[in-house]
Amino acid sequence: MLAANGGTPVRTKPWAPEFISSEEFDELEKEYVLRVLDKKRVFRFYHDQLADSETKQLEDLYKQRTNVKHALAVNSGTSALVSAIVGAGIGPGDEVIIPAYTYIATAAAVLIARAVPVIVEVDDSLTMDPNAFEAAITEHTKAVIPVHMKGIPCDMDKILEISKKHDLIVIEDVAQANGGFYKEKPLGSMGDAGCFSFQQYKVVTAGEGGLVTTNDDVIYTRASIYHDSALSYWGTKLFENVESFPGENYRMSELNGALALAQSQKLDTIISKLREVKKTIVAGIKDIPNIQLQRVPDPEGDVSYSLIFYLSNTEEAKTFADLLNSEGIPNGTIYNNGIADRHIYVNWDYVLDKRGASEKGNPWTCESYKGNVQYSKDMCPNTLDLLARSISISLHQNLTQEDCKDAIEAIRKVAKHMSERMEIHQ
Ligand SMILES: *Cc1c(COP(=O)(O)O)cnc(C)c1O
Repeated sequence: MLAANGGTPVRTKPWAPEFISSEEFDELEKEYVLRVLDKKRVFRFYHDQLADSETKQLEDLYKQRTNVKHALAVNSGTSALVSAIVGAGIGPGDEVIIPAYTYIATAAAVLIARAVPVIVEVDDSLTMDPNAFEAAITEHTKAVIPVHMKGIPCDMDKILEISKKHDLIVIEDVAQANGGFYKEKPLGSMGDAGCFSFQQYKVVTAGEGGLVTTNDDVIYTRASIYHDSALSYWGTKLFENVESFPGENYRMSELNGALALAQSQKLDTIISKLREVKKTIVAGIKDIPNIQLQRVPDPEGDVSYSLIFYLSNTEEAKTFADLLNSEGIPNGTIYNNGIADRHIYVNWDYVLDKRGASEKGNPWTCESYKGNVQYSKDMCPNTLDLLARSISISLHQNLTQEDCKDAIEAIRKVAKHMSERMEIHQ
């Protein structure tokens, strides 16, 4: 009998810890952070000791991991996006296409650069729908930001092909998919730039932090200039044919660099454990007739910390989510779960209202912008439908085979009840 009807829940033990990243903190993180304190050097650009910087080592690690020419560490994922966008020469008057399902910072970064975000549907992978992307291209479109949401690689072949055809810049948002791949290529290495985050909810963390990857000398140099208003004075060698301009301060501290460096060395181990967990659960539920697994454009490259499947309608998904929760497996639908989730465009109030920090100089009304982008809460019905029909379960590297068995049993139990209920109703 279902736990919701007074039966025994499949599981009474707690599910996985909330964080993947910080759960891994051990002697290595302590050693790296303490050595920064021992060196008494917490600022990155310190005299002639630039090569000894923790932050520099972090950049070198990501250059090697993602096989790109340049990496620039910054103080957040948002800063990484802004630096890459400005670095690529995107600004007032330009439209940048982004998916309707991504953290609000993707949209905010475009606006901070004073460009205009254009919101398009995601498909059953919950990443940007390539057809919707192509349909949204106008004469003002300068770039696209595919977002590898919840560790799932986007359909990069199609997105890159369309971008090439229309001569668009591609900036990958890798904030949620550090360590993932698409057809054996590291995420963050396929576009003109890739943007990472080390915030605590990401795969690995430094508390706060971010990183830009690129093969492009000019993007790298301009992003570096934007991340530091005085960069040329620190003795950093930059490409000479790029003119300086005012920047912010997005520098990463040595403490964050050290923490991110220790954590990033654990990425492959974390991900291989996550893959085992996800593969086990997927194998145990894939034959269930009344649920449809999220499409993953390259399952081998999936970071694998999220398990998502769809029910045939919103009502069923809500019931399924409630029943599965009472069986002891925490989960939820993504849309209509009672919170104003900032990952869904309907909750991006300042974007939908075209509101900037000040009335003048607003990206939508400034003279350079000749387009006419429109937003409304019902502009991406497919995205809302998919998110409302989805059941999302967070996975963790420390889940055991026993835990996986519980998840499979609970999902099968609820799915069986739901299909029997359907038969009665018919
Ligand atoms: C977290 C996140 C960001 C922003 O990263 P911060 O480090 O929090 O600034 C950008 N895009 C996506 C998809 C994210 O999940």
